[in-house]
Amino acid sequence: MKILVTNDDGIYSPGLAALAKIAARFGEVKIVAPDAEQSSMGHAITSSRPLSYKKSPVSFDGLEAYRVNGTPADCVALGQHLWDKPDVVLSGINMGPNLGNAMWHSGTLAAAKQAVLFGMKGIALSTPADKIEPNFELLDPFVEKALDLLFKNPHLNLINVNFPHNPKGVRWTRQSVRLYDNRIEPGIDPMGRKHYWFTVIPLEPSEEGTDRWAMENDFVSITPLRLDLTNEAELLKAQLAYPIS
Ligand code: MN
Repeated sequence: MKILVTNDDGIYSPGLAALAKIAARFGEVKIVAPDAEQSSMGHAITSSRPLSYKKSPVSFDGLEAYRVNGTPADCVALGQHLWDKPDVVLSGINMGPNLGNAMWHSGTLAAAKQAVLFGMKGIALSTPADKIEPNFELLDPFVEKALDLLFKNPHLNLINVNFPHNPKGVRWTRQSVRLYDNRIEPGIDPMGRKHYWFTVIPLEPSEEGTDRWAMENDFVSITPLRLDLTNEAELLKAQLAYPIS
């Protein structure tokens, strides 16, 4: 199995090194990651200037690794071009969770989505990195177990996985879709200038069975996703209510 490993935190992230190390147990691994942090870039691609890549300054225990002056989606595109279609793209392990509405702006997940658009399997992996730094040694067996499970299932092609700090088990989940407070928080910098933070805070508690619920209860959350955003129920209603002949 040919495994392309990327992320949105950039080539220097400890989460990328942790993921590459675990991935190497399953097949041949190459790393193609952004040269600088690309978190919250979503599914952006670089189309107004050329892309280039260089050998990584970081050693990944002998694994081939490259850094790209682009987004996570760019890395997948360039990676699959250079490596004649890998079987799977792993993106992460992101330093920060990717749950619920965060999937819309996640660069980590965008790399997995781009993989699926190219006909490969795409798996996004994330863990909180707040007051407590991730303990990748502790997470190692859970990451390995999740990958083993997902590699064995050919029907799952786009998957979002989140690991709590100290997992007590694994749950299949769905995306939490709740109201969010997309708030702009003003502040003043040391020079007296106004600046703003764009913050996203859930307004409602999480529902059982969702990704947020699993993580709040210390379970690894595995969410199968799809690229088709069509609202099937509304499409059917519209077709019936406004038939076009
Ligand atoms: Mn990130």
